[in-house]
Amino acid sequence: MSTDDPSDPRDWEIPTRLVRGGTMRSAHNETAEALYLTQSFVYDTAESADARFSGAEPGFVYSRYGNPTVQMFEDRLALVEGAEACRATASGMAAVYLALTGLLRAGDHVVAGRALFGSCRWILNTWGPRYGVETTFVDAADTAAWKAAIRPNTKIFFIETPANPLLEITDIAAVSAMARDIGAKVLVDNVFATPIFQKPLLLGADIVIYSATKHIDGQGRVLGGAILGETKLIDETYRDFIRHTGPALSPFNAWVLLNGLVTLDLRVRAQSATAAQLADRIAAHRKVKATRYPGRADHPQHEVVRRQFTGGGNEMIGGGNLIAFDLGNQAAAFNFLNALKVVDISNNLGDARSMATHPTTTTHRSMTEEQRQEIGLTAGWVRLNVGLEGAGDLARDIEAALDGA
Ligand code: PLP
Repeated sequence: MSTDDPSDPRDWEIPTRLVRGGTMRSAHNETAEALYLTQSFVYDTAESADARFSGAEPGFVYSRYGNPTVQMFEDRLALVEGAEACRATASGMAAVYLALTGLLRAGDHVVAGRALFGSCRWILNTWGPRYGVETTFVDAADTAAWKAAIRPNTKIFFIETPANPLLEITDIAAVSAMARDIGAKVLVDNVFATPIFQKPLLLGADIVIYSATKHIDGQGRVLGGAILGETKLIDETYRDFIRHTGPALSPFNAWVLLNGLVTLDLRVRAQSATAAQLADRIAAHRKVKATRYPGRADHPQHEVVRRQFTGGGNEMIGGGNLIAFDLGNQAAAFNFLNALKVVDISNNLGDARSMATHPTTTTHRSMTEEQRQEIGLTAGWVRLNVGLEGAGDLARDIEAALDGA
């Protein structure tokens, strides 16, 4: 809802939300957000402690439950996402694990894309069955397959889009519509798109999950995660769960991530602009068998990308900063990685430093050969995280390494 008050954060543009959202100044009126590196809090009287613990008096009691620096991060990210509520966690996987297990009961069924980050797939494949939760993995890009997988006990649709590492796209609006029909919840791991390019809640999803370790930090320093959605769902499902199981984000990491958010919009737009140029050059190289980049018209789900990658506005604003390409076999992929001079070999993504990874031997090695075949992930694929270096330097480095691949 829009107001005429210029200090109302709900009316701010995304860059303003990223710089100022959630700021809580202390009595000292510091410029930069304060780092409340404290485990617990003190009370003026025993009555006050009683009131804080009962909830009758607002305020913090213990940093596993809440902390002012962590709350600033949660409030800022919620504003940027357009979500009512956010709970921060110690890592992206803590967020994925909590988001799923907070909603699931023994006997429930999950439908998930089969192209998932390896640890997410492990939770559903290995951990879920121990607690009586079954998952059907489907071709994430095939909307009809999501529908065909529905069972009477389906409670969650778990979407990662674009998916790691081959950047398959799931139509969030279409899956959300079918979830509404059966009363199931839609959880979207929005790591690859970031809140700048894709707003799953606007497309009908119930929960958005981040590994803040990636673009939100963007400078390779700390781990963090977040779960966002409507206040009622977040409070009822996750507040006590987080309190009593302890996956809290540390105040120091929250402080680093708050500062990461300040430049998120600038960084990911610039990284995406460079990635778009590089994707074309990579696709044109004679050693490259196939290229996947959501911003290219030859991406198999480019039409869905055009609808989803709007940042909440009307026009697609970029294709993101990740590119995948196939060099045919592992020897060629390794030759390419080993020849890079500027781009690092690393499994992280979202970083301002460009980095390339070989998924089948690193991030996705916990998948079986059969699972990798299902998603078309063969040993020739490389995933490239495009950073903030000069586009010319990156192009020269990558093309020279491709020449020798
Ligand atoms: N989801 C996706 C899509 C990822 O790529 C990652 C990466 O590691 C995670 C979740 C987990 O995040 P974290 O490493 O912060 O636990």
